[in-house]
Amino acid sequence: MSSTKPKILVTGGAGYIGSHTVLALKRAGYEVVILDNLVYGHRDLVEQALQVELVVGDTADRPMLDQLFQTHQFDAVMHFSAYAYVGESVTDPAKYYRNNVVGTLVLLEAMLAASIKKFVFSSTCATYGVPDVVPIPENHPQNPINPYGASKLMVERILSDFDVAYGLKSVRFRYFNAAGADPTGLLGEDHNPETHLIPLILLTALGKRESISIFGTDYATPDGTCIRDYIHVSDLADAHISGLEYLLQGGNSEVFNLGNALGFSVREVIAAAEAVTGLNIPVTECDRRAGDPPSLIGSAEKAREILGWQPKYPGIKEIVQHAWDWHQKRHK
Ligand code: UDP
Repeated sequence: MSSTKPKILVTGGAGYIGSHTVLALKRAGYEVVILDNLVYGHRDLVEQALQVELVVGDTADRPMLDQLFQTHQFDAVMHFSAYAYVGESVTDPAKYYRNNVVGTLVLLEAMLAASIKKFVFSSTCATYGVPDVVPIPENHPQNPINPYGASKLMVERILSDFDVAYGLKSVRFRYFNAAGADPTGLLGEDHNPETHLIPLILLTALGKRESISIFGTDYATPDGTCIRDYIHVSDLADAHISGLEYLLQGGNSEVFNLGNALGFSVREVIAAAEAVTGLNIPVTECDRRAGDPPSLIGSAEKAREILGWQPKYPGIKEIVQHAWDWHQKRHK
């Protein structure tokens, strides 16, 4: 009897959420190959922390994909690779539609040609736009307010149509604000350029930046700053394993929010970081950033019910603590 565990292709496995999921897959005993173009991903993390095969290439490269799918018999593909800077998507939408939509379409076509019909997709709460209600349920209307969110919504639509026409089964995860780092310190968040709130606060605490900018203090929220639902990256990774197993067991296509249904304002996150680091973190109050909804909080009841997903680290202090442990190590 064969005891081989399923073999999974992870695109974007050298990036932030992808790398944490590869670690979770490895810990669960899966065989993993990473495909990453290394535009934003980190070769050093793959080589040192993950130690799995890395194929450097682009999901829009059909001949390379055909070759890859001949070399390896994959049971499923988990697709993390995408550009994800909201601001840049507004100024250079072509880059986002080409990579996020066309790149995914080529990947899906190559998968179908190789008879791979299970797909786990990184979508985003940015597909909802400005919500009518929070916590946002999955059946909330999707009206993205930037090209990044629109590019992810287009792929969601492609996946629905490909299921009907070609029997491609997918799990689509709509993430809220991924944050934190692997609790054992192997991996963490390292974007270049960095635009995310928690790493920027911690880089300020480390003295790498003079202050943290607060983008907007006049929102209709209790303290005037934006509220977000921060979700630990290792909890996201666990959800991906559950989503993958759901598909491998023959589950139908589904969409799940991944969040904690808990909102924290920018000021509350800064206060949590001051408590964790024991340092005073200078702030600069700035104008609003274009494209920011005042409050984004997600209901993940469905992932709990159907996948049995249970976040291990819902507290903002734990999330910031793990990010702080990582940043101190990475920026020594
Ligand atoms: N934010 C901020 N200062 C920064 C970066 C972000 O005030 O230097 C705010 C941003 O306006 C948003 C929240 O922090 O309300 C989270 O932003 P981030 O870019 O981390 O994630 P997003 O919500 O855009 O996915």
